[in-house]
Amino acid sequence: MQPIQNIFPLLGKKKNVVITTHQKPDADAMGSALALYHFLKQFDHNLTVISPTNWASFLNWMPDSKLVLDFEIQTGKASDAIKGADWIFCLDFNTLTRTKRMEEKLLAAKAEKILIDHHREPQQDVFAYGISDTGKSSTAEMVYDFIIGSGHEDKISIAIAECLYAGVMTDTGSFRFPSTKASVHKMVADLKDRGLEHSHIHEELFDNFLENRFRFFGQVLLNRMEVFYEYNTALIVVPQSDLIKYEVKTGDTEGLVNYPLSIKGIKLAAVIIDRGEERKSSFRSKGDFDVNKFARKYFNGGGHFNAAGGFNKEPLEEVVAKFKAAIKENMAQLSTYQF
Ligand code: 5GP
Ligand code: MN
Repeated sequence: MQPIQNIFPLLGKKKNVVITTHQKPDADAMGSALALYHFLKQFDHNLTVISPTNWASFLNWMPDSKLVLDFEIQTGKASDAIKGADWIFCLDFNTLTRTKRMEEKLLAAKAEKILIDHHREPQQDVFAYGISDTGKSSTAEMVYDFIIGSGHEDKISIAIAECLYAGVMTDTGSFRFPSTKASVHKMVADLKDRGLEHSHIHEELFDNFLENRFRFFGQVLLNRMEVFYEYNTALIVVPQSDLIKYEVKTGDTEGLVNYPLSIKGIKLAAVIIDRGEERKSSFRSKGDFDVNKFARKYFNGGGHFNAAGGFNKEPLEEVVAKFKAAIKENMAQLSTYQF
């Protein structure tokens, strides 16, 4: 993988460009992709933004989100764009498996793939150019660095600023995680100087849910949460019947895992959801417990040190049993609690 700076001199040459991100994109994934789209649009490229799957409706305020193709619905159009691409930007994911059914199309594409990502252990060999930096708060911050590094900061429009702010704000837990370095606040200050209005973005992202989502949270917090005090661990297990009963949509479960994590003394919080086709898990930790390793070892996943996820094909009961066995195996680390 060559350093990403090596593509700066090539930016002005017309190319067919695809920008993509991970399945079920969150605000960092979608915000980074659309910010890069609005930046590259100001050069003479043919651009297509593709999401491997659908996404939460609270992202639809992002400028030009209507242009984003959903690979699962617009498969033909998206596949043609991938096939004809010279460059494919891969944002906010470390392995192509995170693009689900798009993976094989990406592997078959003749395009040079370019990585911009902050997850651990990236699949370096498939990328021609890229930057992977786990010290970065968000991919949005990295797209900002990319724009500044290219020498085209004059091209940062309000649309770009809004998309970048959404990504950095959500991936830092509203600027609370340790990844919120001075560079993050400097970037936001710069975006504000360029005219960014941030309040409405918080409303779009956090005050846009339907009543049923809170009834669902009430149900699972009351009836589906188990706390293992001897392991400083809390687990929420969501059967598919809850998703159906409360009409849970993409994005509705985002943030659920933060509730058990906010119980005093909890070091590891987990949510395991039966999505029918697979069991999706989310892990969050505080302090020295590495959930990236935990998700890789037991749940076919990965992510960051304190935030990771995974998926399993086994039935829900087996995944829950696996989790309980896993915390036992990690008891030495989980039972010591310190910040
Ligand atoms: P979430 O729990 O919000 O789905 O994901 C937390 C973090 O872990 C995110 O940064 C996400 O990209 C990563 N992650 C979630 N699921 C998976 C997975 O199945 N595989 C890998 N490699 N990373 C994941
Ligand atoms: Mn991210």
